[in-house]
Amino acid sequence: MKKQKRKNRLAFDKKAMQNIGYTVIDTIVEHIDQVDTLKVHGQATPEYLNDKLGGKIPSKGKNPIGLIKQLKEEVFTNVLRVDHPRFYAFIPAPSNFIGVMADTLAKGFNVFNGHWLAGSGSAAIERITINWLKEICHFPKEGGGLFLSGGSMANLSAIATARKIKLVDEGKRGVVYYSSQTHSSLAKGLKVLGIGEKYRRPIAVNRALKIDLKALEKALKKDQKKGLTPFCIVANAGTTNAGVVDPLKKMAALAKKYNCWLHIDGAYGAASMLVKTGRKALKGVELGDSLTLDPHKWWFQPIEIGCLLVRNAEHLKTTFQVTAEYLEDTKAKGLEEINYYDHGIQLTRSFRALKLYLSIKTFGIKAFKKSVQKGIDMAEYTEQLLRKQKDWKIITPAQLGIINFVYAPKGATLDQIDTFSKVIAHKTMVDGFAMMTTTKINNLTVLRMCPIHPGLTKQDIKATMKLLKKLASEAEEVH
Ligand SMILES: *Cc1c(COP(=O)(O)O)cnc(C)c1O
Repeated sequence: MKKQKRKNRLAFDKKAMQNIGYTVIDTIVEHIDQVDTLKVHGQATPEYLNDKLGGKIPSKGKNPIGLIKQLKEEVFTNVLRVDHPRFYAFIPAPSNFIGVMADTLAKGFNVFNGHWLAGSGSAAIERITINWLKEICHFPKEGGGLFLSGGSMANLSAIATARKIKLVDEGKRGVVYYSSQTHSSLAKGLKVLGIGEKYRRPIAVNRALKIDLKALEKALKKDQKKGLTPFCIVANAGTTNAGVVDPLKKMAALAKKYNCWLHIDGAYGAASMLVKTGRKALKGVELGDSLTLDPHKWWFQPIEIGCLLVRNAEHLKTTFQVTAEYLEDTKAKGLEEINYYDHGIQLTRSFRALKLYLSIKTFGIKAFKKSVQKGIDMAEYTEQLLRKQKDWKIITPAQLGIINFVYAPKGATLDQIDTFSKVIAHKTMVDGFAMMTTTKINNLTVLRMCPIHPGLTKQDIKATMKLLKKLASEAEEVH
C-alpha cells in the first residue's frame, strides 16, 4: 500500500519525531546513568508546583522539546528516586533499562492486549511469560494467570475469584481470614468487593509475626457454628513490614479442611522463589489456589506490573467472563487462542508482559537469581554491621531482604527509642544520601530497611550505617 500525504494536527514529520524521541531517550539515559550521584529524596510544595506547572488550558501548542526540558527541571526532580541504589524505604522499585525500552515499544505500537484477535503476538508473549512464572513458583501446568497493574489489583482479583468459586450460592455470608500483618491492599480489595468488616477476620500473630494457627482455626470453627461460611484464607509470603512468611503448608491444610480458597500474597516475597533461601522460606507456595507476585518490586521492572497466578485457569474465566454482541468476533477458537479480557477485569489492557519477557530474554534468568540473592545478602550484611554496634538493636532479623532495627542507647526509654526512629528516618530523608522509612512492630516505631537494588554495594551499606550513627547522636542530643 502506498503512503499518503495526510493532514493530521496531532502528528509530526519523521525528522521531528526522531528529534523528540532522541531528547526523551537522552533524558532517560542521563537519569539512569547519574541517579546515584543525586539525592534520594526530591519534593516541592503544592504552591510551587502549581505555580510552575498549572495555568489555563493552553489554546495554542508549544515546542515539545522545551516542554520536556521543563518536566526534567520541575517534575522529575520532584519525585522520590525509588530506583536509587540507596533507596531502602517501602519496597524499592529499581527498574531496568530493557524494561523501560520494552514499555516504550509497547506504547509505540499501542498494542491492545485484550484478546487474541487484536494481539495474538502480545497474548502469546503474556502466556509464555505466565508459564515461566508458574514454573518458577511450582504451579501446575493447568494453572493460569495474567498481568495486572500491581499487587492491589491481583489481591482484589484473587478474592473475587475465591468468592465466585467457593460461594456458588452468593447468598451465603462468606468470611475471609488473614493475619494482622497482611498488606492493607487486601482490606481495600475486600472493601471494594463489598465484604464488610463483619466478614473479615484479621487474626493475631505470634512472636515471629506469623499468623497464630490456633487463633485461625478457632475463628474458622466459631464462624461455622454461627452459620457463616468461611471461604477464603489469605497467607503472606513475605510481609511488607518484615519479610515474614506465614506457615503456608499448615494454612493449606486448614483451607482444605474448611473448604476455603487459599490465596497467597507474595507481591513482594514470591520473587525470592528464584533462589534457594526463598524456596525454603516459601515451602508450600505451590499449594495456593492463587498467588500474587509483583514484578515491579523485586523483579526489577518499571511500574506498573503485577501478576496473579491461579492453580486452575478455568477459575478466572468462570469469574470474569461476560459476553457481548460487539465482542462476538473475538471468540477464541480453542484454548490456545487466549482472550485475556476473559481472565480479569480489563478489556483494553496494555502489553505489560513484554518488559518482563524482554528483560529475562536479555539478561537471562541467572542474572535475576543473582540480583535477588544480593538483596537477601545486603539485608544480612546490614544486620551483621548493626549487631557489632552497641547502641543499635535488631527488632526483626534480615528476612527476605527486609530488616527492622532501632537506636537504643543504654538507659533510653521505649518512648525515646520510638522518637529516635522517627527523627532518624526524617533526618535521613532530609540529608538525601539514603532513604529509609519507619514502621511499627508490636507498637514500637522502628527503622525499616529493604536494601534490594541490584547495583547496591557493601560500601553503600557501610556509608549508610556511618550516616545513621551521626544522625542518631544528633537525635540523642535533642531528645
Ligand atoms: C506492595 C504490596 C502489595 C500491593 O501491591 P501494589 O503493587 O502496590 O498494588 C500487596 N501485598 C504486599 C505484600 C506488598 O508488599
